[in-house]
Amino acid sequence: MTTGLLVRDLTVIAWLGEARAAVAARADYLTQLDAAIGDGDHGTNMTRGFDAVAAAIAAAGEEMPPGRLLVLAGKTLVATVGGASGPLWGSALRAAGRSLGDTAAIDGASLASALDAAVAAIVDLGAAQPGDKTMVDALAPAVAALRERVAGGESLAEAVAVAADAAEAGAVATVPMLARKGRASYLGERSIGHQDPGATSAAMIIRALHAAIVGEA
Ligand code: ADP
Ligand code: MG
Repeated sequence: MTTGLLVRDLTVIAWLGEARAAVAARADYLTQLDAAIGDGDHGTNMTRGFDAVAAAIAAAGEEMPPGRLLVLAGKTLVATVGGASGPLWGSALRAAGRSLGDTAAIDGASLASALDAAVAAIVDLGAAQPGDKTMVDALAPAVAALRERVAGGESLAEAVAVAADAAEAGAVATVPMLARKGRASYLGERSIGHQDPGATSAAMIIRALHAAIVGEA
């Protein structure tokens, strides 16, 4: 199995397409989660955002390196999603794209660095720490798992599969947390016992990356 150069422009296009399909297929579920502890628009926000990303990529063509595609996707999310998740994911994807630069093909270590940069951008903008019941609780363990598995020499597909498992576990782990950031924090103690919508969609997006890598390998 190939362990090296796997993430290309087409993989990023496939990732964004898989992410779009995942959030669209479970938009109602994401909205229900957000209705419980927020304002019930998370499924709509994510669907609108990733639909716009697909349109922006289609309009631009496929002649862009992975980093530039991610920057385009990030800008599009900022421009089209009004909720907190738009600027947060927008900053994340732009930071990941800038981290990759114009490299045509990237390895596991640079993918891990790019996702590290994405999480750092989310924290920089939203100031959430692990345990605050946000998307960070899915993404931070995913990136840590990815980095560890890549350093251990696992294939990109295997490493991202473990990262997606970690993201899903991280999303489930938000259930007993008290929300300290975003709209859910307005509920105080009443936010306890509900899964965070942003952590849930974040896990879908990491799972989508795995699907894209497997599909393109
Ligand atoms: P809004 O809260 O503006 O309606 P969404 O419903 O689209 O936006 O997204 C809500 C999600 O955004 C939350 O479930 C949480 O995961 C994430 N979120 C909100 N505020 C922050 C923050 N400061 N840092 C990280 N993530 C946040
Ligand atoms: Mg909302």
